[in-house]
Formats: sequence, structure tokens, C-alpha cells
Amino acid sequence: MADNNKQISSESICLTNGSSYNSLSENDINEIIEQYHEEEEMNFEMSNDTKSGKRVRSDTEEETDTEWRVQRKGKKMKEQDKIELYISWNEQLPKQFALAKLFKQEDIKDIIKVKYINQFKVRVEFSNELSAIKFEQCKTFIEKGWRIHRAMEKSYSYGVIKDVDMDISEAEILKSITCPNDIQLVSALRLNRRNRIKDSDERWLQSEAVRLCFKGTNIPAYIYVDELRIKVDPYIFPVTQCTRCWKFGHSVKTCSSKIVCPKCGDNHENCVTENFKCVNCKGKHMAMTKICPGFLKEKRIRELMAEFNCTYRRALTMYVPPVRPTMSVMKEKEPDDVDIQT
Ligand SMILES: [Zn+2]
Ligand SMILES: [Zn+2]
Ligand SMILES: [Zn+2]
Repeated sequence: MADNNKQISSESICLTNGSSYNSLSENDINEIIEQYHEEEEMNFEMSNDTKSGKRVRSDTEEETDTEWRVQRKGKKMKEQDKIELYISWNEQLPKQFALAKLFKQEDIKDIIKVKYINQFKVRVEFSNELSAIKFEQCKTFIEKGWRIHRAMEKSYSYGVIKDVDMDISEAEILKSITCPNDIQLVSALRLNRRNRIKDSDERWLQSEAVRLCFKGTNIPAYIYVDELRIKVDPYIFPVTQCTRCWKFGHSVKTCSSKIVCPKCGDNHENCVTENFKCVNCKGKHMAMTKICPGFLKEKRIRELMAEFNCTYRRALTMYVPPVRPTMSVMKEKEPDDVDIQT
């Protein structure tokens, strides 16, 4: 497992000489894979809340396959009648047997389904509001330090401010900002941008953009530094892609899936095939290409999350798939400048 990080290295890419992929050279492909690997590292490194030191996990995590359903007699629940809550914790949550036992102990009833998003986050669906409230207010869980919140409610909102002088530290930024309407600023994180200078050792450079994390569902339109009023824009999360299974929404550090080949989608490290098959959309491209419809969907969902300041789940309900890919979408796009995720 310690070797996970080594799975994609430039040495292990074996495209035969002269082959091309969408006019990308072999070097380009190596570059893309390396770059992915590095972004992955960056995403993980930056995943600390600068103030409390606690992990603030994003709401964009994709789901695992672990779930259990409670057998119910009678007719099926209507989708809008169910109440969804999340448990999240900074440590690993109990696995399904232990969790089910705990629910029983605490007399938590009317559960329809329990779904593990990952080891740190579980979604619980209730058929009854009173049972959901009882679960939300359960002392045993709260004392454990579990955070329980509604699925469609945001616990944190992210904004971004620009043109922040490079010599100001995150701690200073945090200290000097005041927010209107009692909005609470939780953390400030200076974002990195990709270094465009070729052959430079530094792949990432600090940028003048700073991401602000606010508690609750509101992003202020402006924040204040002394007498100065500064505009806050909604922050769009970059799409995380795992470099082990190539699925979106989690990083290799939390991956519990089998290794997947980015070229053919089978369960092995990247191979020599030129018949690409994307693991996410089954299309004829490598799993990390930015023209993948699966990637574009994830990107659009994050734009909706920023536009409507909502959770991944809510944005997913708003997402409308494109009728057919247009030429502009088919073009290989430059990745965004600012590229950091908690
Ligand atoms: Zn994975
Ligand atoms: Zn393969
Ligand atoms: Zn694809």
C-alpha cells in the first residue's frame, strides 16, 4: 500500500514510440499523469483547516459501495418524504455492524438506509422527522464528537478574495477580516496556481487569491479589512480525481477501491494498450482527460454548488446533462489556474 503513490510514474508509462493520443505526444501524456499525481498530493497537503487544525472535508466526496437498507413492509417511500442526515467525524466511524448496534442501543428508529460515503462520513436516511430529530440530538453521538447535519444543509460555505498581497500570512488575513451580519470566518487559505514557466523546479506557486471558509450557509458579498471593503466571490471546488481507481470525488489517500488502469479501465497498473477505455464513462480516452463527459459533469456540479451555494447532493438534483457534446466542449481545455481542494 505504501507504494500507491508510485503507481503512475513517468518510468512506468509504456506508450510505443510514435503513437499519439488526440495529438498529444508521449511526453505530454507523461506530463499529464505526473501532474495528476502532484495535484493529488497538493490536495491532500492543503486539507487542513488553518485555524482549528481539524480536517474540514469537502461536500463533494463520491460514495462508496457500503450501505445497508432496513427491510420495510408496505409501500415504498416517496423520494421527497425521506430525511437525510450525515454523520461526519475526524476519525474513522464504526463499521456497519458496530454502527447498527449503536443505533439500536440509542433506540434510533425509522432508518431506511445507511450509506458510507467514506470512512469519515455516513449518510443516514429516515422515514420520520421525529426520529431524525432524536438522532440529531442524541447525546451519546454528540459526546463522541460526531458532527450530525442535514444532507441539504451546508455546514460551511466557501468564498474567494483576490489581490491579497503575497507578504500577508493566512493568520494575519484571518485576524484582520471582519464579516457583516455576524457571519463567522473559520479559516483562510492562500491558493496555489500552476507555474507556467517551463523547466522550473517549482510546479506550484502561491497566488494572490485567498479562499475563505465561513460557518453556515451564507457567504457575505463583502468582507472588511479596516475601512476597506473587499468583494467575495463564490469559490468553485476543483474536481478531485483518485490516482488509484480514477474515480472522481476522493483522493488516493482515502481510496478503498481496487487499482484501476487509467488507459483500459481493468484492474492493473497502467498498461501498454492504445485502445483506451475510460473507467468513468467507458469512452475511448484515458481516465484523466478533461474532455471526459464524467469529468465535465463533476465540474458542472461544482459550478452549480458555487452558483447556488448548495451541497453536492442539491446540485446533483439541479444538474442537466448536455444534449450532445459541442465542439467547444470537445477541445482539450487548459486546467484552471487556481487548483486547491480541502
Ligand atoms: Zn480511488
Ligand atoms: Zn490497462
Ligand atoms: Zn471518460
